[in-house]
Amino acid sequence: MPSIHRLVLVFALLAVGVALWLAATHPAREPAPHGPDGSTGPAAAAPEAPAPPEQDPRFGTDPERHHLPESAVDSPDIPNIVLKADDPDDEPLPYYRIAPDTYMLYGNIAEVDRYNRGFNGNAGFVVTPAGVVVIDALGTPRLGRRLIATIRHITDAPIRYLIITHNHPDHAYGAVAFRRLGGVTIVAHEGTLDYLASEALERSVAYRRSFIPEDMAGFEPVVPDILLGGPPRQARLSIRLGGRTFEVWHVDRHHSYGDLVVHQVDQGIVWISDLAFNRRVTFMGDGSSEAAIAAQDWLLERFGGARLMVPGHGSAQTPPFPMVRRTQAYMKALRTFMAEAVEAGLDLQEAVDRAERDPRFDPWRGERLFELNHRPNANFVYREMEQALFE
Ligand SMILES: [Zn+2]
Repeated sequence: MPSIHRLVLVFALLAVGVALWLAATHPAREPAPHGPDGSTGPAAAAPEAPAPPEQDPRFGTDPERHHLPESAVDSPDIPNIVLKADDPDDEPLPYYRIAPDTYMLYGNIAEVDRYNRGFNGNAGFVVTPAGVVVIDALGTPRLGRRLIATIRHITDAPIRYLIITHNHPDHAYGAVAFRRLGGVTIVAHEGTLDYLASEALERSVAYRRSFIPEDMAGFEPVVPDILLGGPPRQARLSIRLGGRTFEVWHVDRHHSYGDLVVHQVDQGIVWISDLAFNRRVTFMGDGSSEAAIAAQDWLLERFGGARLMVPGHGSAQTPPFPMVRRTQAYMKALRTFMAEAVEAGLDLQEAVDRAERDPRFDPWRGERLFELNHRPNANFVYREMEQALFE
């Protein structure tokens, strides 16, 4: 049996799943800060009457240019993959072999739009003699089917596990395709249940349906089979399959309603999810910057000797994994800035305006999605620091 401190089997929660699905079919009600994941996207029209959102092309995918970097490891080059509404579901997506039997899908570093059609995050899979372990499901039911087609392009081995590193749309909304396949054990953080019951789910589904409705057809929230919880970083779920070991760590609710890290022990590869971003600024709208900083320290301490880290966005990286400290330094800078702002009595608006201009953030200004995410991040951290002061 897996050695997790608290491991909950939730087949019995199917009734809850149905209730959540009913909730998810209702349209969004409230505007919210705009995240690149669409996780807390702006209120969009009801699914029955889609009105595509306005998007800034600077943060999206260039429809005129299909581009794949040569490598997905330590690559300064960023993919610009253009997908079409009528692409067949059984057409494999571009993939990279990053180690023996180990494949990575290197997604666009962009806001979700109708050109990348939700392929704006990474995923991966490992082929063992006894079956396939998949890490993340990509961002729509259709991308989930195309991820399955990609696996089928390489092996006929059964897909045995899908590990969802966190519940944000770009990593999780393809999961329904794996559920329909049957025989796939889906693993996630127990916070996924809170996410499935939240308005963030409704908003993000309505947001995606408003401009890629074909790709979202058949979407259903997926209740995982195995949920990880308990004190963060204290215990792990060990999966043994085909002579390989995968250790799944629950690393707190730092970026979402609950985040996991997957250690592919035999290859020394760590799938770190959105604990760090490579060549993209982070998004803070769920979770906790304090928890993220603690988790980043733990990651480097525990896995500093790993061969490779694969983030949720951007290319994989070899030691010493500079993306981790770089993402952390941005979070620390924002925390310091906002602690000072709250201390000085600045209101939210003023503090966020100043953070937008402040030269202390210049080191990250050239990164993808900075202009999109920095304000919402500043807003989020101001409220965190305000709360910390009055606690
Ligand atoms: Zn993400």
